[in-house]
Amino acid sequence: MSCCPPCSQLRAVLIDLSGTLHIEDSAIPGTVEALKRLRSTNLNIKFVTNTTKESRQVLYDRLLKLGFEINKDEIWSSLWAARDLLANRKLSPYLMVSDDALEDFADIVDASKPFDSVVIGLAPSKFDYTHLNEAFRLLLNGAPLVAIHEGRYYKRPDGLALGPGPFVKGLEYATGCKAEIVGKPCKDFFKSALGNTDPSAAIMIGDDVQDDIGGAQALGLRGFLVQTGKYRPGDETKIDPPPAKVCSSFVEAVNFILKEIGVA
Ligand SMILES: [Mg+2]
Repeated sequence: MSCCPPCSQLRAVLIDLSGTLHIEDSAIPGTVEALKRLRSTNLNIKFVTNTTKESRQVLYDRLLKLGFEINKDEIWSSLWAARDLLANRKLSPYLMVSDDALEDFADIVDASKPFDSVVIGLAPSKFDYTHLNEAFRLLLNGAPLVAIHEGRYYKRPDGLALGPGPFVKGLEYATGCKAEIVGKPCKDFFKSALGNTDPSAAIMIGDDVQDDIGGAQALGLRGFLVQTGKYRPGDETKIDPPPAKVCSSFVEAVNFILKEIGVA
């Protein structure tokens, strides 16, 4: 199907949350105001997040508290993508996700059914030998491994910290199985967030050069890398093609977009 007329015209902006709009319980300076300005346009906005340790409700409550104008159904989380996958296949998951994330799976968990799949997200309290070994045994028995994402590390107030990726890779290594990834940088994840919008009419803003920018650009969106959160100097050289734009922060990205569409 060829895409029709104004697909070069910007229609949608996908925005990462952690490291782009906020770090834990602090908004990144200027982002609340910048989001407000972006909202004053008629662009579609979606928040695409691999934040797997919190349910959509927890995430939503925190963003509201930080002052962001946001609707709950604009949050496209990888936990929800995993939940959909499990529901569609009627799987009974062994959940290696944080306690806050369990809420998203509450209506699909049936305690009377034995585990027939393993779901792994960011769950620091479950990345111990006992839990990992239980997952290992299920996988050896043929259970599929569903990974919310394979992020290598993320930014915490006390510094960078291991993401779920190293643990997913460890289980793959031990069992020879291959995880199904549902979050960024999967094309399907970006596609479902975009809905009917052509990828060429959309921009993804994020701080993860591989998962946010590389993933989105592989589908045909423009990726704007922000130099906040987990950004490290030189990240922009780690993907080919490089990010469409590198911005000092979300504020600069919004200023650029407003100028491009003739608002600023
Ligand atoms: Mg991020």
